[in-house]
Order: sequence, then structure tokens, then C-alpha cells
Amino acid sequence: MTDRLPGFSTLSIHAGAQPDPTTGARTTPIYQTASYVFNDADHAASLFGLQSFGNIYTRITNPTTAVLEERVAALEGGTAAVACASGHAAQMLVFHTLLQPGDEFIAARRLYGGSINQFNHAFKNFGWNVVWADTDDVESFQRAVTPKTKAIFIESIANPGGTVTDIEAIATIARNAGVPLIVDNTLASPYLIRPIEHGADIVVHSLTKFLGGHGNSLGGILVDAGTFDWSRDGRYPALSEPRPEYHGIKLQETFGNFAFAIAARVLALRDIGSAISPFNSFLILTGIETLSLRVQRHCDNAKAVAEFLSTHPAVAWVNYAGLPGDRYHNLARKYAPKGAGAVFTFGLKGGYDAGINLVSNVTLFSHLANVGDTRSLIIHPASTTHSQLSDAQKAQAGAGVDVVRLSIGLEDKEDLIADLDQALKA
Ligand SMILES: *Cc1c(COP(=O)(O)O)cnc(C)c1O
Repeated sequence: MTDRLPGFSTLSIHAGAQPDPTTGARTTPIYQTASYVFNDADHAASLFGLQSFGNIYTRITNPTTAVLEERVAALEGGTAAVACASGHAAQMLVFHTLLQPGDEFIAARRLYGGSINQFNHAFKNFGWNVVWADTDDVESFQRAVTPKTKAIFIESIANPGGTVTDIEAIATIARNAGVPLIVDNTLASPYLIRPIEHGADIVVHSLTKFLGGHGNSLGGILVDAGTFDWSRDGRYPALSEPRPEYHGIKLQETFGNFAFAIAARVLALRDIGSAISPFNSFLILTGIETLSLRVQRHCDNAKAVAEFLSTHPAVAWVNYAGLPGDRYHNLARKYAPKGAGAVFTFGLKGGYDAGINLVSNVTLFSHLANVGDTRSLIIHPASTTHSQLSDAQKAQAGAGVDVVRLSIGLEDKEDLIADLDQALKA
């Protein structure tokens, strides 16, 4: 063995895993169990009191899921991670740990449509108030800060337009405001962008997308960067104040630079209950083993398809940050030099009807609401994912009536281009 640090592809395959100590099984087994036997009564008591680490019940921890958590934490460069049932569950766990009724958080307007709904509707029932800001006008984040602000939330590469966010500029605003920066890194994956290196304090993912990569399992995860001081000014009492249900311990004092992950697990996940199934953790772990190969191919295919569309007579515009001349090309070169991802939008000269026509006539592309599958996917956001938004909100979210979103898969790029070409002519 050498003492060099393992590279990204090596970590994708090995981080967190070792041969099973009892059977020698080389891939991580699926520990399909709800519960775990205690050694004795003292062991049980110390587990329940957070005095020792170990498994109690799969709603809180599971050995298959633990490998997934350690692996994603390693790939993102964080101290610890908590996996859960979906990307939305991860967002719920993060905000439930940080916010109290009446608190505010600032979020980029350009987000996954489901996140816009979650923040506008479900979160309101908890008294958590979203204040929207514009990633194209970084100062709008600064202007949105109030004494009630507890966090800032952005996507690294934003859905649906594939636009690249200036993470460092917004991280500076978060740091000056004394609040954590949360980055949804789903569309980039840590292969393209590692937000913690640019100032993120918490990273969240929908594991359903590129990390799992095969469109077969829901999952989500939050990663603790270990960078934020939660006890500075009493704004995050879940982390800084004594916990009555755990013998009065203070989580940051006890767990240091992975206190946020502990809090999200033993306060939020324990009580909200959005655990991931061990089988899904297994499938997602298997997906992650090929992450670097897949995402590079996704990006290379996406660039070829974007180039084809940009010269097509039926196409009004293409937003792909990987194309020279794109508004976000310089940000893409800075933050995602290996490629600008595989999700992007383009506009049809024929507007709404042309969008419906295109999704109806493709044969290789699947018309569905997902991204980050091996298969190429197409959707017309105005009539589907973003249909619940007003026309003004649609436009602000990059999902106007003429917009089509693609998630480019791993097929031969010539076949993808031929399918789009015939459907655009149909
Ligand atoms: C899909 C997605 C989510 C939500 O994840 P689920 O696993 O579907 O709950 C959040 N953010 C982004 C960017 C997504 O693409």
C-alpha cells in the first residue's frame, strides 16, 4: 500500500465498505432486518442514551445504509451523512433540524419543481417561511437576509434549465449572515461539483437520480460538511441546547464536527420516520460504483445532443452551460470543468403545441418525470412538473410554455440525435 489518498473512482467503489466479517461476502450485504439484538441490558441503555454507537432499529440506522452514508460523505468531502427515503425527505430532515416555527430561509427561485412546492406549501404548515431570491442576481440573497433567516438553499446545477450557480458568491453571503449554506447537488453529483470545497455547509441529494443512476430506486441523503459553528449565538437550539430525551446532552458539544448529521438522525429521522429501505441502499450503492464512468458519458452525450439542437431549424434556443457562448459557460468552466451535466432545456419555435407534439413523437426517449437515468428522458415542464405554478412562476423557474427538458442517458449519441430529429420533423 502507498500512502496516497484514494481518488474519486476508488472511493466510489470502496469507501465505507469491507468484506462482510462473518461470511466474507465481497459486496455489501442487504441487511434486511427491522431490529438488532442487544448484547445485554447495559449495552441497550447506552445505545438509547447515545453513549455508544450501534444499531437499535432500521428507522434510525442500518448496516447497508451505513455503507451508503459513509460512501457519499467521502465522495462529497463531508464528515458524515444521513440517508433517507427520498430527496424530499432529506430536505425535510435538514430544515426540521434547523428551523422553528416563524423562522425564515432563503431559497433560489430556480429549483426542482417539487422543491418549490415543498417550500411553498408543506413547509408553511410548520411555520417555516421561504423567501425567494434569484441566482442571476446574487445580491438578491443579501437583500433577503433578515434576523429570522436561518439558512440559504440553492442547487449547484439548477433544474430544469441546467444553469450553474455561483456557489462561492452565495456562500460568502451565508457566512456573513451567520447561517449555513445548503446545496442540492443532485444534478451535478460529486463527480462534477463538490460544493463543500466552495463553501457549502450541508449538501443534499436525491439519490434517485445520478447517484443511483438507473431509475430504479428512490433515496435521499444529507451530508454534513462539519464546518458550521451551531452554538455561536443560540440560533440552532436543537444543536446547542441540552436535549431532554438524551439525558440533557448538547449535540454539538458531544459530537463536534458531525453534530448536524447526528441531530438530523436522532431528532429528525427518528421522529419523522422517512427511513430508506436497505434494499434501496444496496441498489444505490451498486449505482455509485460506476458514477464517474456514467456521469462522464452522460455529459459527453448531452454536449453532442445540445450541439445538434442548437443548429436545428425548429429550435429557438438551447440552454446548455457546456456550449461556448451559453450565459453560464464561464460558471460551468469554473465549477464543473469535466462537464455541465446532462439535464438541460431548449425552446421550440412552435411553443406549447410543439412541445406536446415532440414528447408524443419520440420513440427512444421516454416521456416521464425523472432525471439521471441510464435511459434518455424528455418532459414538457409547463404541462407536467411545473403545471401547478402560475405562468409567471413557470417563466421564473425556467419552465415557460415553449420549454422542453431533456435528461440525456447513456445510449449511443447518434441514436438519440436521430430520434429527436425524426420527432422534430413529425
Ligand atoms: C428529484 C429531485 C429532488 C427530489 O428528490 P426525490 O428523490 O424525488 O424526493 C430534489 N432536488 C432535485 C434537484 C431533484 O432532481
